[in-house]
Amino acid sequence: MIDAPACPTVAVAGSADRFPVRRIFCVGRNYAEHTREMGGDPNAEPPFFFTKPADAVVDSGAHIPYPPATADLHHEAELVVALGAGGAFLSPDRALALVWGYAAGNDLTRRDMQAAAKAARRPWDMSKGFDHSAVVGALRQGSAVPQGRIRCRVDGVVTQDADLAEMIWPVAGIIAHLSQLVELKAGDLIFTGTPAGVGPIGRGQLCEVQIDGLAPASVRVG
Ligand code: MN
Repeated sequence: MIDAPACPTVAVAGSADRFPVRRIFCVGRNYAEHTREMGGDPNAEPPFFFTKPADAVVDSGAHIPYPPATADLHHEAELVVALGAGGAFLSPDRALALVWGYAAGNDLTRRDMQAAAKAARRPWDMSKGFDHSAVVGALRQGSAVPQGRIRCRVDGVVTQDADLAEMIWPVAGIIAHLSQLVELKAGDLIFTGTPAGVGPIGRGQLCEVQIDGLAPASVRVG
């Protein structure tokens, strides 16, 4: 028999410990301006979710190959929630009790492939869940939801700059909604959606996501 695959992990700020990753969930459209830039109506839609494989995680500081099958790799700066406990059918007032910590993240996207999938009514798996597609900075332990700015820079040029308070669905609401669909467990990561300003990362470029109070999530591509 083959060896059991290693459990993917992400870094923890100020510690040599690694946080084990079970599943990665992502929210589709959670900032009004980004929803509009992608052609949606921010007032009409409840949160929707997609997933990435757990082993798509990449530490901040990584140098990843430019992904195959795309000519339009995009960054999406996002707040990432890490769960330290599980639950199902949660109300928002009980949801934050599941949180272990938070990190800055980058939901890398093959945008051209995603646009083709949308047009053909096909799934997003290959446009969102490819190798090295989930950049996660070091986790900060604590359940208090981070506040402040979320920014993305590509080779130092600011491309995304928003306030976490602009989220349509706050962290507790996201966890509560998701827990109506699947049973959540310790080790789950949730990417909470990206603000407006998504755009390309070219070969050789450095993309840095910064959230006030959290360690950065940077990646160099190609
Ligand atoms: Mn995203």
